This record gives sequence, C-alpha cells and structure tokens, in this order.
Amino acid sequence: MQYTTTIQNLIDAFSSLPGIGARSAERIAFHLLKLPSEEALSLARAIHDLKTRITHCSVCYNLAELSSEGPALCEVCRDARRDRSTICVVEQPKDLLAIDASGTYHGLYHVLLGRVAPLDGTDESDLTIGGLLERLEGGEVREVIFGTNPNLDGDLTLLSMQKTIGERFPGIALTRLARGLAAGTQIEYANRSVLDDAIRGRQSLSTEGR
Ligand SMILES: [Zn+2]
Repeated sequence: MQYTTTIQNLIDAFSSLPGIGARSAERIAFHLLKLPSEEALSLARAIHDLKTRITHCSVCYNLAELSSEGPALCEVCRDARRDRSTICVVEQPKDLLAIDASGTYHGLYHVLLGRVAPLDGTDESDLTIGGLLERLEGGEVREVIFGTNPNLDGDLTLLSMQKTIGERFPGIALTRLARGLAAGTQIEYANRSVLDDAIRGRQSLSTEGR
C-alpha cells in the first residue's frame, strides 16, 4: 500500500531537508497529522513568514525583517549603542551571530554573503563588497576587522579585500581575528599553522598589578 499523494508530498518535502532521512520525514508527517489543526498550521505560517518577511539588511546584509517604514535594517544597525567606527566583515549571517554572541565585540558588521572561491567560480564581484566600500566612503570607519573563516577560501577572500580596501582607503586600519591556541589545547600537540597564528596574534600583557 502507498501513502496518498498529499502525505507522500509532505514526506518528500521533509526528506529534502538537511539531516532528515526518509524515516524521520515519515515520523514528522504522521506527527503533524495527529496534531490539532491550529498547532500544525502555525508551523506552516512560520515557514510562510520566513519566506515573505525576512530579507537582508540594506546596510550590512545581515538578516532583517522587512519593514513598511523604509529600507530593512537589522538589529545591529538599528542599535544606537554600537561603535560605528569598526566594521567586522564576515562570510555569512551565522558567523555574525557567533561573533556577536561572544559579547566582546560591540562594533558593526558587514556580511559578504559568500566568499572568494576560485574552484566554485566565485570572486569579489559575487559578494557584497560594493556595499562595504560605500560604507567606508562615509569616513566614519577607522578599522575593518576581517572575520572570514580560517581556511583557504576565507584567506583568499581576506587577501582580495585587503587589497581592494587598502588601495582605496589607506587610512583605515585592517586587522583579522587572531586564531591561535584554543583553551584547553596543549602546545606540544598544536599544529604548525595554529602555533604560527598564535605567535603572530600574540597580545600585549596588561601592566596592571606588576
Ligand atoms: Zn545591518
């Protein structure tokens, strides 16, 4: 016996999601079938809202809610307490959330929505660098921190932007996140590139208490 078309369509839709296999898809579909209509439909509405109300921030390309009062602005860009002299450049909105959750950075962000990846055929022109350069034209920014991923593509993205921004805005400090040793690592087991980063990204010790 086969499922009716409606049920099968739902199972197929769930199985196409990341991390959900055929078995789980079936279980979710039957769970929804048993739920009161209102509860099941609220899920459908949440998906509908996600696709109709979420857009990219008109300034930094972070995720933002669509607004009827003009261009969409994300929470960070709307926050008047943010330090507007620093912009941290990241690849994806998820990276922004991770850095912001650390609570140590209080500046603004710029989300590239991708990275320079020659093997995938993407270069600077596929990213939101034009928007970043426009922001830098404003003259308020003193430092750009590159928060790209510490891998080949992330480093290529950094190098490419470093050149573009460095040429046009020689007065802006360009930095990148230190990588170095993770807490709990033992130096003897750290690999060379980690140690190299740790040494290059070393920090001056406070003179307090000495
Ligand atoms: Zn924003």
